[in-house]
Amino acid sequence: MKGNSAIIVVDLVHDFVDGKFGSEEAKSVVKRTRDLLSKRRELPLIVTRDYHMPNDPEFAIWGEHCLQGTVGSELVPEIAEFESHVITKRHYDAFYDSDLDGYLSAIGANDIYICGISTDICVRHTVAGAFFRNYSISVIEDLCAAIDPNHHAAAIKEMKSLYGVKLVKSGELKQ
Ligand code: ZN
Repeated sequence: MKGNSAIIVVDLVHDFVDGKFGSEEAKSVVKRTRDLLSKRRELPLIVTRDYHMPNDPEFAIWGEHCLQGTVGSELVPEIAEFESHVITKRHYDAFYDSDLDGYLSAIGANDIYICGISTDICVRHTVAGAFFRNYSISVIEDLCAAIDPNHHAAAIKEMKSLYGVKLVKSGELKQ
């Protein structure tokens, strides 16, 4: 049985758009995501924010970013303007240690669209989290960007082959 749909926008926060790991590609992803969100009629929106405590173990790998209470961890205004359920997260996978799965159950959504930054890290791990929980998953390819652009295409290919995601373009969504 097909359930409701929802869209999960991963980590369009300042540090990934125009801060520490920002890029021009990230800024165009924000613009295109905003376009889709403003055209959407019913699709519930969930946004995630990378949100770390001081000395978070993840900083050993990436250095300090998206620190709680700093602008870097805040949603960019183009995304913050939309009503959404916000998930703050400390890990790549937005399902891990969060109420994301519970929230999706509460709204009856088992068919999810995922997009955001970085394709190969938090998008990919959130897709894995959804896969292990038996969601039907579509990745909106043109609304994803990788911190290292060389990693984008491989991550898209892997999500398709490992987790069987459907690859869609933002123009194809009609909800
Ligand atoms: Zn992080």
